[in-house]
Amino acid sequence: MKVNEIMANLEAKHPGENEYLQAVREVLETVEEEYNKHPEYEAAKIVERLVEPDRIFKFRVVWVDDKGQTQVNLGYRVQYNAALGAYKGGLRFHPKVNESMLKFLGFEQIFKNSLTMLPLGGGKGGADFDPVGKSDAEIMRFCQAFVYELWRNIGPDQDSPAGDVGVGGREIGYMYGMYKKLAREHSTGALTGKSYGWGGSLIRPEATGFGAMYYVKHMVEEKGDTMQGKKITLSGFGNVAWGAATKAVELGAKVVAISGPDGVCEIPDGITKEMIDYMLVMRASNRNKVQDMADKFPGQCKFTAGKKSWSVKCDIACPSAFQNELAEEDAKQLIANGVKYVAEISNMGSQPGAIKAIQAAGIPFGPGKAVNAGGVATSGLEICQNAEHRNWTAEEVDKNLHAIMDNIYAQCVKYGRKADGTIDYVKGANLAGFMRVADAMVAQGII
Ligand code: GLU
Repeated sequence: MKVNEIMANLEAKHPGENEYLQAVREVLETVEEEYNKHPEYEAAKIVERLVEPDRIFKFRVVWVDDKGQTQVNLGYRVQYNAALGAYKGGLRFHPKVNESMLKFLGFEQIFKNSLTMLPLGGGKGGADFDPVGKSDAEIMRFCQAFVYELWRNIGPDQDSPAGDVGVGGREIGYMYGMYKKLAREHSTGALTGKSYGWGGSLIRPEATGFGAMYYVKHMVEEKGDTMQGKKITLSGFGNVAWGAATKAVELGAKVVAISGPDGVCEIPDGITKEMIDYMLVMRASNRNKVQDMADKFPGQCKFTAGKKSWSVKCDIACPSAFQNELAEEDAKQLIANGVKYVAEISNMGSQPGAIKAIQAAGIPFGPGKAVNAGGVATSGLEICQNAEHRNWTAEEVDKNLHAIMDNIYAQCVKYGRKADGTIDYVKGANLAGFMRVADAMVAQGII
């Protein structure tokens, strides 16, 4: 494999699909050396096959808003790779959703799911629907219209979507309800992130954030350090940031900033339980404004419009909202402010220049596909529970999640340890995830 040749071909074939091209380049650059030691990969054209999804469904979603007006959106499902299991990955509802975004997310999902060691293929989907300002009834009608198109192509052994940005428990509930009505069967494993009581798993809502903090704790301990008193900055205030804040506080750390599209909310004394609970209220309001936190807790929080979390001094920075949210200049500011660790909880949260700057400064950098894998891992555990018609206790789920994250960390160290003893977590995660998929594809023949 020659990365530059492959990338030139992809750029010609998929011009302007910048996020997709960025995600592919990063993986290929980190696996190139090892790949070229495996003639069986080259013979089976593993890379050429892996970079293109198995298929993409693209469909119109039509629904009626509260004023009785007809609305038209675009929906997608990218079924990327099924070498390890049925397609698995979230749905993103956001006005900026397009094919490039979902292809990058689906591509990342293949390796993330592989790292969990669970039998999960990779996929992603969503729509350019903007949940901000929508009523609950509008969200329900949109979710129903979306599933009306997609339902034949999902199922526990085919493709199992879940949540992502803009899709949480409420949306999954509406989608599962419609799926069940159309399919005329209670195939709970067709969607994950369901509520507890009708197929959902305990700890699934918290899982991405909990898993991320288990991984971060390893990064910190690798340096002979502890989580106690560490100042953490998060971005966003959605499900991921909520779970991460909960676990960070439990581990003795202090969350000193969260953010929103409107600005940053600084919390100098650290986030409290009441504030963490209020994050859920803010999400349910569909207002998407972090200023609401500062208004609710005046004196404890300080809101600054237009600023990002990365302007706040911290020990550990965790992008946890959207792709490319950490730019090179943000990374430089974090470094200047003495950041000790950076761990992405969002998918591809950092721009390539930011990762380079952080790594060049000798600061450990954890990539999203390893750090945030606890979410999809717990979706995998939800499917296990659905298949055995049983609910595990919260302790059982958390124990499994913890063990999966420990193993992901160990794989990253194994494949990412450099000659000087430091760890390139990006290379470790990509290589460990990639090898398992490549070996499965070779074993399953040219299909
Ligand atoms: N959207 C999440 C992710 O990026 C979860 C996917 C899932 O649970 O299927 O991994």
